[in-house]
Amino acid sequence: MQQLPLHSSSEVMDRILVVDDTPTNIKVLAGALVSRYQVQVATSGKAALKILSQEQKPHLVLLDIMMPEMDGYEVCKRMKSDSATRDIPVIFVSAKTQVSDQQYGFDLGAVDYITKPFEIPLVLARINVHLRLKHKSDQLEKLALVDALTDIPNRRALDDCLDREIRRSVRNESPMSILMLDIDHFKNYNDHYGHGAGDVCLRSVAKSIENCLRRPGDLVGRYGGEEFVVILPDCDETCAAAVAEKIRDHISRLNIAHAKSLVSDHITVSVGIKTTFCQSQNSCDQVLNQVDNALYNAKKSGRNCVMAAT
Ligand SMILES: [Mg+2]
Repeated sequence: MQQLPLHSSSEVMDRILVVDDTPTNIKVLAGALVSRYQVQVATSGKAALKILSQEQKPHLVLLDIMMPEMDGYEVCKRMKSDSATRDIPVIFVSAKTQVSDQQYGFDLGAVDYITKPFEIPLVLARINVHLRLKHKSDQLEKLALVDALTDIPNRRALDDCLDREIRRSVRNESPMSILMLDIDHFKNYNDHYGHGAGDVCLRSVAKSIENCLRRPGDLVGRYGGEEFVVILPDCDETCAAAVAEKIRDHISRLNIAHAKSLVSDHITVSVGIKTTFCQSQNSCDQVLNQVDNALYNAKKSGRNCVMAAT
């Protein structure tokens, strides 16, 4: 396993992992790729899996089939059974030219199969096609998780994150907190100022919440309408109350005029808090219900305030 010399703008280059037990093959392939891509090489299946287990994954893998100990088919199988590597395109590059060999490669989840001896321009063209498709599908996946109006995570992304963080909290025996926020008398705002102004207001509030979150794991998403949810991993009641109050205060200081609010002359929010502990095997729905109740209590007690679930 070694890192070939990198291009100066390596951070924007796609990474390609070349796996082959024959050094000459590696030399030819890597040599053809190195001016356009960041190239990683492995001379065994084991070494390939080790590279694939690192944080920075390659964008595509060129995979030899015939290798001692662990063959390319096995490497591909393992990649496809692991969610962290499942979506990395695999192109087999092999001297096995039988239709059944190639078919088996596709059955295992490869996107392409190149037979040896290969023509470099065609290898490059195929890599190019598959990288383009990979970037497109990554982009679509990202879009599916973003709220189009506010550009922050959407309901689906929140559900995914909440599920993940509840399990992490149980595993790490650490508390986590959820905030649910609602813009006070937002229907009146829309009725009075129009939906265009309502959209602008939602964007400002989303941005403001985002700016209040400082730790890398914290996440805010649009839950629906004028409701937002904040997920705070590793955060107990005191920490959650401080973040909630900071957000409430920041949004109030935006000083967005709201002539039809019944609690203030500008935009304000009500906030519910729920902190869960490691022992509680709470489901997402349960936690969301509890934080929704807390928000309901905040509204009942006059709005523009923060309330924790009891
Ligand atoms: Mg080989």
